[in-house]
Formats: sequence, structure tokens, C-alpha cells
Amino acid sequence: MKRTAKGKVYLAGAGPGDPDLLTVRAHRLLRSASVILHDDLVSADILALAGPQAEIANVGKRCGAKGISQEEIHSRMIESARRGLDVVRLKSGDPGIFGRLAEEIDALEAAGVPFEVVPGITAGLGAAASLGVSLTDRRTASRIVVVTGYHARKTRPQERPDWSALAREDVTLVIYMPGHIFSSLRDELLAAGLAADMPAVIVSNATTPRQQHAAATLATLDQLPRMESPSILLVGRPLERVLRAVAAENPSRAIEEIEIVLSSL
Ligand code: SAH
Repeated sequence: MKRTAKGKVYLAGAGPGDPDLLTVRAHRLLRSASVILHDDLVSADILALAGPQAEIANVGKRCGAKGISQEEIHSRMIESARRGLDVVRLKSGDPGIFGRLAEEIDALEAAGVPFEVVPGITAGLGAAASLGVSLTDRRTASRIVVVTGYHARKTRPQERPDWSALAREDVTLVIYMPGHIFSSLRDELLAAGLAADMPAVIVSNATTPRQQHAAATLATLDQLPRMESPSILLVGRPLERVLRAVAAENPSRAIEEIEIVLSSL
């Protein structure tokens, strides 16, 4: 095992799924690290790039080490680094987007363990690229708002996003962890003033061979089919392109009629 005077922790992004979308730096670190602590969403194809010396552990909270606490993850990183081992803490997408990066940095700093952040392609950008969509298409959008649907599902109104401040005609919403039930989100976005014909696209397993997407307008958002996790919801005028592409395949139907479309890339 590679030992340095003191190990370092690399808080690295694995990108959205396709191993080709790893950064060269993340790939190099996977080849050389002694310890890899990864989240559930990091695919087997990416872990297969690890060097033969690497001890690999799933510290994800869903199917990996069930019940592992954030503190235990911190301890594992710190202990390995103190043993002189280089650790890659591998998170899906970009480590700084809904990835508890700040908490892990605080813990490493408090323990005096050297660390480095290695960015990755976040799921929203991977999904947009795979659809051939520019989230800031200047003809229709000027801003991107990145939020989690997890907060949108909170029942107490004060914990829910203030959509009237976030949702605008010229904003593209990128909603991580959107869940499967969109009726209240539809109502809230309409109440916030978004147009009923605003396009919305849900993308499942973006950038992987299992990628699928379904498109709707805001008015029909609640009818989107249930898709496999992980999925991400994009809402905004730049997504019009996806609806139009579908309309072109269905020339007998008007675009307003194309409410729900499920298609693989
Ligand atoms: N740090 C990650 C996000 C972690 S939160 C990033 O930057 O992408 C986990 C959420 O990310 C999932 O619930 C889902 O909404 C989204 N996600 C991650 N990978 C995805 C993928 N391949 N396709 C669609 N959504 C994905």
C-alpha cells in the first residue's frame, strides 16, 4: 500500500455516471489511492477503474453500509489518512452539489488532515448535455436555479422553497432528488406564476446506458411516469427543444397534445 508521511484525502466527483465523464485527475487518483470510500450512486464501471491495491468501501447511506453515520465516514477518512494512506472520498456528480462536502471539509480541517477537492460534472449538467440542451440558452433563459425536491416535499410551509422568488419565465430549474409525485410541485409552480406550457423533462440514469427521459408541460407535470432512480427534473424554456424533438417524431399531433412522452436515447 502506498504510504506517505501523512495521507491526504481527495474529496472527488465521479461525474454523473458515464466513466468517460470522469476528470482525468479523478481517474488518476482512483488508480493510485489506497482507500476509496464511495457513495451509492457511484457506478461499478467507475469503481472498476480503481487500482488493484485499493481497499474499496461503499459508505453510502442507502444500500451500502446501512445506518452509517456522517461521523463514521469522517472517522474512516481521518483514520486512514493518519495511517499514511491516500484516500479518495468519491461522490457522484460534483462533490460540492448536495454532497455534504462542507461537513467533510470541516471534519478534516478540525483533525488537521490535508485534503483537496476534485470537481466533477454534476448530474444536472450531464442530463442537459445528453439531451442536447443549453440550460442558459440566451434566447429564453438567463439563470439556472439548482434546488432539491427533498426540500420541496417538506410539509411545513416555512421549510419549502419560496418558489415565487425562484421560479421565473427566464429561469431554468434543476431539481435534484425530485421524488415521484409532482402534483403539489405543479400547483406551487403555477401559483408562483410559471406558464402552464412551460416544458419539464425528467431524466433517469443520465449519461448511462439505462438513461431514459419523459417530457411534459407544467400543466401535465403530475402525469409524468414513475422513473427509475436516480432521476432529475429540469423545468424551463430551454427544454422546449426536447418537446419539439418529440413532436417531430409525432407529426400528426400538436405540441400541446404531447403531454407525456417516454423515450430512450
Ligand atoms: N453530487 C451529485 C448530487 C448528489 S444528490 C451531483 O453533483 O450530481 C443525488 C441526486 O442527484 C439524485 O437523487 C438525482 O436527483 C441526482 N443524480 C445523480 N446522478 C444522476 C443521474 N445519473 N441521473 C439523474 N439524476 C442523477
